[in-house]
Amino acid sequence: MNMPRFNMNWIYGLVIIALIMLYFTQGSEKSSVKTETGYSDFKTMVMKGYAEKIVVNKYDNTLQMYVKAEHIRDVFHQGVQQTGKSPSVTVAIGSADQVEQFVNKAREEKKFTGKFLYDNSKDGEFFNSLIMNILFFGGIILVWMFIMRRMGGGGVGMGGGGIFNVGKSKAQMYEKGGDLGITFKDVAGQAGAKQEMQEIVDFLKNPQKYTELGGKIPKGALLVGPPGTGKTLLAKAVAGEAGVPFFSMSGSDFVEMFVGVGASRVRDLFEKAKTKAPCIIFIDEIDAVGRARSKNPAMGGNDERENTLNALLTEMDGFGTNSGIITLAATNRADMLDSALMRAGRFDRQIHVDLPDLNERKEIFYVHLKPLKLEQGLDIDFLARQTPGFSGADIANVCNEAALIAARHNREAVGKQDFLDAVDRIIGGLEKKTKVMTEQEKRSIAIHEAGHATISWFTEFANPLVKVSIVPRGRALGAAWYLPEERVLQTKEAMLDEMCSLLGGRAAEELFIGHISTGAMNDLERTTKQAYGMVAYAGMSDKLPNLCYYNQQEYSFQKPYSETTAKIMDDEVLKMVNEQYERAKQILQEHKEGHAQLAQLLVEREVIFADDVEKIFGKRPWTSRAEELLEAQQRAEAEAMAERRAKELEAKQAEDSENKESSEDKGDSKESEAPENA
Ligand code: ADP
Repeated sequence: MNMPRFNMNWIYGLVIIALIMLYFTQGSEKSSVKTETGYSDFKTMVMKGYAEKIVVNKYDNTLQMYVKAEHIRDVFHQGVQQTGKSPSVTVAIGSADQVEQFVNKAREEKKFTGKFLYDNSKDGEFFNSLIMNILFFGGIILVWMFIMRRMGGGGVGMGGGGIFNVGKSKAQMYEKGGDLGITFKDVAGQAGAKQEMQEIVDFLKNPQKYTELGGKIPKGALLVGPPGTGKTLLAKAVAGEAGVPFFSMSGSDFVEMFVGVGASRVRDLFEKAKTKAPCIIFIDEIDAVGRARSKNPAMGGNDERENTLNALLTEMDGFGTNSGIITLAATNRADMLDSALMRAGRFDRQIHVDLPDLNERKEIFYVHLKPLKLEQGLDIDFLARQTPGFSGADIANVCNEAALIAARHNREAVGKQDFLDAVDRIIGGLEKKTKVMTEQEKRSIAIHEAGHATISWFTEFANPLVKVSIVPRGRALGAAWYLPEERVLQTKEAMLDEMCSLLGGRAAEELFIGHISTGAMNDLERTTKQAYGMVAYAGMSDKLPNLCYYNQQEYSFQKPYSETTAKIMDDEVLKMVNEQYERAKQILQEHKEGHAQLAQLLVEREVIFADDVEKIFGKRPWTSRAEELLEAQQRAEAEAMAERRAKELEAKQAEDSENKESSEDKGDSKESEAPENA
């Protein structure tokens, strides 16, 4: 059995319960029955021998007569249970002397043998209840303070919490970066970024090496890149490698509903960091506070955010360069950051963390496949090729999703098909096999998708087809999956071919069904965007060649071109799209039979693969070339890698033997260190 752990809450709870109990038990004793009666009745009762004790209060001219247990029923007509142990009768009296005389008389007659007392307190009850009330309200205040503390949230150690602590930073601190257990080994790929981060680790580990030569340690580095590419991971790895404390905070943590809190949190964060130097401060999503300050106050600039940013700017400049605090920040919108933040002396370095390429994806797969139970002979190269454009986080997700899918099918190990399903699911969403569709709708979706497939098969630069499916997924009714080559540059021809194959769906509908549908909306949207991009930004049209109207400033309301140019642009776009549409129709006419077969196959099987398309159309005239290129490139890379490895090995061996000799020569006990970046 797991005993619940002891904590402070218990004490608070106990105190409150005790107070409440005290309040009620006290109350119940007080409420033991009292009645009032006249003086003559009192005298009769005493003479009957009912009185146990008599207490006279001179201040309010009353007396209390406590009744003997055996006569309680005679006086109160109730049992002891109802009246309490010592019920009393209150009697208004003329004077205390009169009572004393009477009591003395009763004593002589042996009718009264108990005590006769004077009560000198003004009003005992009043004081009692005062104390009780103080205790009670004290209890309530305790509870209130406790709740406030909980609301304030835990901060660094016990420091956080309470309404008075909103100005304290909410940074999470890891005393030892190593506690996170993340090192560079866990970050796959990103060789460039890792190398730069390695330098930062070096600065933290032995700063003297750099300062001795007069250099200054950089104050900060900005990690820029799309989400999920491992920026946070890299920052953690730096802390892990350097073994220094690590403060982690998100840009939005600075913001609160109170004014001035952000700035004070920044100051507090740096204050804390200074006591722990050398250390790393990591601010995730810095664009939440670091956005460019607005130049026009009338536009409603966010004062609070600007104050926070100003505090950050001063703090980063405010401490001596050698104090050993390195600020790392991550963002995926470097273009939005304030230029003051980016100037040298603050974030002097910008480290770009890009989406991984083929080889890097492979490495990331290796990292995330480690915990999985895999089928024998799983081709990781294949997986990496199936996931172009995926970030590290996406790949981690694919691996996890694949494991879940395999488990759902009660498999022993995770196999290739599970990974493919996971990729499909992440790109397209969950399959919706239950979506209600008429036969006719299904048929027209098949014709549409077959149109895409046909065109991409017969245009030279279109991406190679992987599979076509008419199973609805997410919001899409059907889809054709391609394997984009990872090109850095896009040629005009490739873009036109892609446009053509995008339009192939609509063209097939028009040609083979006779009426067009809304199913092509997404295709048309992408085509139009692409065409505008080509004309306005890439200077790829005949009438506006070599002109780029790209505008860096996001919020400008003016177009950097005239109305006439806008008209020309529209015309060019229209012309371009129309041309490609005609071309698509032409290709489809040429391969009419093939297209019909493809559509039929799709209706029957719902999912068809490149192999099936090849059976119908024959080998794709251009695939071999694209693949050849890819293969040649991979081969060259592999060779280069092998060569580099061999050279490094040689160098290392040479160095090792040299070191050995020298240490033998001098009898030096210093151990030879392996070169760091081996
Ligand atoms: P961001 O760049 O948005 O800060 P993170 O660093 O939080 O992204 O990455 C999210 C997750 O993605 C990580 O926890 C890790 O599992 C995975 N990941 C991202 N990049 C890599 C990489 N290069 N190597 C290994 N895992 C990665």
